[in-house]
Amino acid sequence: MKARRANTFLRQWLGPLTTDLVRSPGEFGLGQVPARLTPDATTSMVCGFCSTGCGLKIHLRDGEAINLTPDPTHPVNLGMACPKGWEALTPLSSSDRGTTPLLREAGAKCRAVDWPAAMKEFCARMKDVQARHGPHSIAFLSTGQICTEEMALLGCLFKFGMGGFHCDSNTRQCMATAHVAYKQSFGFDAPPFTYADFEQSDALVFVGANPCIAHPIMWQRVMRNPHRPEIIVVDPRATETAMAATQHYALRPKSDLTLLYGVANRLLALGAVNRSFVDMHTTGFDEFARFVEQFTPLRVCAESGLTREQLDRFANTIAKAKRASFWWTMGVNQGHEATRTAQAIINLALMTGNIGRPGAGANSITGQCNAMGSRLYSNITSLIGGHDFQNPTHRAKVSAVLGIAEERIPSEASWAYDQIVEGIGEGKIRALWVIATNGSHSWIHQNKFNDLLGRLEFLVVQDMYPTTETAQRAHLFLPAAGWGEKEGTLINSERRIGLVKKVRRAPGLALADFHIFQLIAEYWGCGKMFEKWRAPESAFQLLKELSRGQPCDITGIRDYRMIDECGGIQWPWAEDRGMEKPPVERRLFEDGCFFTEDKRAKFFFDLPRPLAEPADAEFPFVLLTGRGTSAQWHTGSRTNKSDVLRALSPADCYIEVNPTDAARLGLAANAPVRVRSRRASMMAVTFVTPTVHPGQVFIPMHYPEVNRLTHPSFDPHSRQPNYKHCAVALEKPDMKIRRNGGIRR
Ligand code: SF4
Repeated sequence: MKARRANTFLRQWLGPLTTDLVRSPGEFGLGQVPARLTPDATTSMVCGFCSTGCGLKIHLRDGEAINLTPDPTHPVNLGMACPKGWEALTPLSSSDRGTTPLLREAGAKCRAVDWPAAMKEFCARMKDVQARHGPHSIAFLSTGQICTEEMALLGCLFKFGMGGFHCDSNTRQCMATAHVAYKQSFGFDAPPFTYADFEQSDALVFVGANPCIAHPIMWQRVMRNPHRPEIIVVDPRATETAMAATQHYALRPKSDLTLLYGVANRLLALGAVNRSFVDMHTTGFDEFARFVEQFTPLRVCAESGLTREQLDRFANTIAKAKRASFWWTMGVNQGHEATRTAQAIINLALMTGNIGRPGAGANSITGQCNAMGSRLYSNITSLIGGHDFQNPTHRAKVSAVLGIAEERIPSEASWAYDQIVEGIGEGKIRALWVIATNGSHSWIHQNKFNDLLGRLEFLVVQDMYPTTETAQRAHLFLPAAGWGEKEGTLINSERRIGLVKKVRRAPGLALADFHIFQLIAEYWGCGKMFEKWRAPESAFQLLKELSRGQPCDITGIRDYRMIDECGGIQWPWAEDRGMEKPPVERRLFEDGCFFTEDKRAKFFFDLPRPLAEPADAEFPFVLLTGRGTSAQWHTGSRTNKSDVLRALSPADCYIEVNPTDAARLGLAANAPVRVRSRRASMMAVTFVTPTVHPGQVFIPMHYPEVNRLTHPSFDPHSRQPNYKHCAVALEKPDMKIRRNGGIRR
């Protein structure tokens, strides 16, 4: 019976292209008919790379996308796009797309199988592992790159249907810190800003953020600011953003927490505290003020490497600003004391009353296109809808909305990514399902990660490409449709829910992740539990209901069509707004009320922690990693498929080395150099540049070699990996340059 039902689904999903733009009314779960378009037309949707959430106009021929242009009417990007957005359709046509499930046979090559065979293998082997090692011996690692409806179905299927427990997402690598910092300080994971704030500030402070290349359209919004703002960049490197700023503070790597406490100390000395805001809307300020007394200018300058004049100028700029906004991203999130550093930024905004007003805010810029969807709805370490597994009222609500027996909902949070990885080493995790992420490239201390993958009894990878470093290790590969080949929603940095539409047919047997999860539910035998999830838009209606009464309440968003017509809608938008059309941009906390029980924001602070791996005589350089180009996205699984994008940055991995260090080591520009850490070594091309300080080097993260070197240390609160600081040595190798200019790795 279940196979018959599943086959019916398969015929429907793999049939001829009936895009969501032209389907029949009966297929649109709630009786809403989307705008019918002629086969040759233009439609709009949001980009599926980064969290900016740009609107793109997709041009169709015979109902399929043939080209795109940035959407001039979209409130996010106003007609602009970065290179990745312009090239967003190209990776869909790559010749290495997965077109059929692949099954590895006893160490041999993979053989193509059909979906029923793949599903039987998946269920039989996962259930076998559970039977022999316990229900919690299977795990999944997912992504912030798929649609919210998909990640929600995955989390519910795994935890409520399959009896699994431990699961996490690659959003652990990018946004876990912001999630924890906001939840503790504001009572909910709630980025308060709107992109208009970039244009309304008279002082913008970027900490560990390089929007010029990491979020180029956000930087364009900064460039539209008519107030001649002061732009402060806090970053050890002279990044593209630092060069465009009015003030750059090149502090010692990972002295940011000390510096931010030092700035708070100076703001107190300047009398720049907004006492009425602090008294009415916060708790813990007096303790915080006493705490930062120890961060004297003498101490802060000694530890950060900045001068007293720099520290004073930094604090004076904030003190004088009428509208100061504070922005951070991975330079903060990916650190050994990341959560407290993020909260030190939040504290500056709170103590100066720079929150809930135009041009203000403590604003975390998100990484992936749907990291916010993952934070709210993936049902991994938080219960779906921004709820808590430990809260019985929350469990009862989720049970009632989803029609899932309450006893199937765990009452504890499960392991984070690093704990799942360690669990493989300890033999507690025996089977792993990896969805749309490439940990073999991106996880910290890569060689250990890959060694552990080799110990699994069963590794399943679900992805667009069987060629990723992780997919090549899989026992079973499930071919997935990509952005543009399916529908659903994404949530961007400013909490804007945007729509993704099906404008291309996925190749061969590839299916939308949503449909793969439905198929697994059928073959697992729990399909009935997920009958309400019959299509992405019906899943969206469930997510709406789950959000009711939460800070992220979206019960006022009628359907996908409303999202489409509004150019995206920021959460919250609750039903009590009477289904009116929401304003284009909204920020949180304008009434000074936060999401804590007493409605007050809280000051969080701790003493700085020692570095996980300081440089020393044997490994004298600090390795910094980060985005190296606006043309590459994370591990390059998609962006490397585009000739245009590949041409925009060097093919070979390079390392930025200060001229003083290069001269001392005899490293010429473009010469090969061996980079060694305590964990592994790699080859790179020397890029001699003063943008890094002596004693520091930088390697872009999209090159696969770099995470062989990184140190597996984690922020204790968010468990986010510390990608931004480890000790390495440089050696001039006995190397030959290949004729084509490439280097041997
Ligand atoms: S900035 Fe981000 S969302 Fe906008 S086009 Fe580029 S990758 Fe896409």
